[in-house]
Amino acid sequence: MALSEKEIIAMVRSRSAAGDTDLLRGIGDDCAVIHRGGGLVELITTDALIEGVHFDPAWHPPRQLGRKAAAVNLSDIAAMGGRPRYAFLSLGLPGDYRPEWLEEFMAGFLGMLARFDTILIGGDTVRSPGGTMVSVTVLGEMAEGQVLLRSTGRVGDRVLVSGPLGEAAAGLEMYRQAPHSAKECRWARLLSAHLDPQPEVALGLVLAGSGLVTAMMDLSDGLATDLANLCRESGVGAEVDGQSLPVSPETRQVAELLHADGRAWALGGGEDYRLLLTVGADQVEALQSLVRRELGRELHPVGRLVAEPGVRLLDGDSRREISDLGYDHFRD
Ligand code: ADP
Ligand code: MG
Repeated sequence: MALSEKEIIAMVRSRSAAGDTDLLRGIGDDCAVIHRGGGLVELITTDALIEGVHFDPAWHPPRQLGRKAAAVNLSDIAAMGGRPRYAFLSLGLPGDYRPEWLEEFMAGFLGMLARFDTILIGGDTVRSPGGTMVSVTVLGEMAEGQVLLRSTGRVGDRVLVSGPLGEAAAGLEMYRQAPHSAKECRWARLLSAHLDPQPEVALGLVLAGSGLVTAMMDLSDGLATDLANLCRESGVGAEVDGQSLPVSPETRQVAELLHADGRAWALGGGEDYRLLLTVGADQVEALQSLVRRELGRELHPVGRLVAEPGVRLLDGDSRREISDLGYDHFRD
């Protein structure tokens, strides 16, 4: 039987060589981390967007798509607590691509990079026999002692997220199921969560500088899947409090409108690009106050790390295994 996305990555990882002395972290985290000297490390990450899988040109304007192609990679730099510096862009375009589309895409892409002082330094351009494909690589840097990995969570730590969950999934479902309602401005927040996510670079820097965070990653595949990955890498398990999941009123309203489950979006919906982090139980309030003071942002506690492997959703008396409920390219 064909392998799932998770199994493919495990297979690739098991066959790749390890043991390079400059490589601090290879496959398995949001970025590869490479020793650079002078107390600094290099961060490297790559992510692709494929037409029909990650975006539908019927509703995804090229300017927002360009921004998103940059944002999803900047988010992986943010996930380590790093500062992005350079980018590569590979484009696979159909033979009959529209030049205006490319102008708009590039304006969005370069605009998002510029907001984070990141410059485009290379890439590749090829013809695609099918839809459009965009692959981006971003390089960043940070102090070696501040790198926040997925693999360093400890039993007893609290699990926090940096914003409401499920908004990108709600926005996507609006476009899919109710495109006419997608024009209403009261849903703008959800639609832009899907079309135009904002990478948490500033927050990542504050969190890495705080010295309080024990592990971190970004939320690209949904809390259930991403937290399961953090747990596997850290050799722990987790419990999520069903009642404490941050779901915005707009997400609840759209879920009701579409007869969907807003909490399922919060757990399994991908592409929120918020940060998922762990912190010692006695440091939660100190970290929340720091983030409020520095950025006026809230960190939402959603659960805790435990010794028993797997991720369980606690709701009153019920306990349900939810590991890997989120998106997998070869299962969904
Ligand atoms: P993210 O969602 O943060 O981009 P992924 O879940 O896509 O991370 O990937 C998990 C890890 O596996 C990352 O370290 C990534 O670089 C690595 N990875 C994914 N696909 C491949 C591949 N085809 N070859 C080598 N490494 C891969
Ligand atoms: Mg990531």
